[in-house]
Amino acid sequence: MASRHLFYPGRRVKAICTKCKEIVTATYGYGTVPLQDGTPVEGVMRAICDRCGSLVATAPQSTPLVRAAIETRNEKRPHERKERTTVRIPRVLADFARWELFELKAPDPERFDLLVKAFIMSLARATEKRRGHAIEKLRNLKDPVLEQPCDYLVALNFSEQLWKYLKQLQLEARLPSTSELVRRILVLMERDQRAEDELRNLVLIGH
Ligand SMILES: [Zn+2]
Repeated sequence: MASRHLFYPGRRVKAICTKCKEIVTATYGYGTVPLQDGTPVEGVMRAICDRCGSLVATAPQSTPLVRAAIETRNEKRPHERKERTTVRIPRVLADFARWELFELKAPDPERFDLLVKAFIMSLARATEKRRGHAIEKLRNLKDPVLEQPCDYLVALNFSEQLWKYLKQLQLEARLPSTSELVRRILVLMERDQRAEDELRNLVLIGH
């Protein structure tokens, strides 16, 4: 087989790591990568930064696998329509979210839904203890940005399932609305390294 078309486990390449912010060596191997909505796809040939472990590339040979996973997901969950909802947030918080996406070279810096999804994914992977801490943080968060007027309208496209999850999280954090939850998640994204790593992967894999 023409090895220049296929990547084998252990193959090392130079790649740009958006986390290390420089050219690094990365090693290919099979592993799990998330689709944009968090659905994990197993057995994908992908390169991981040798220094920090971030996902830096997926091999072309895995594209059919990822496509198939998207198809399967869509067939399995036909009821899972995308629901568009608008949320009001302070303009300065919108600036932060846009800046975060811009820095990660997201093609569309208005995709604030990706920040919320990244936060949810890091929470889904957390231990019970760390999840509890995160919910407490959401509940008790004090930040001057939350005092600002909510004068910016954001459209969020989430699946029904994700809205349900957010509603549950809102109740657990004892917050008055999902809008308030979304605002607090966006504020916490500034400080949450794990969630930022998830965001990096979402931006890389989703576009
Ligand atoms: Zn790195």
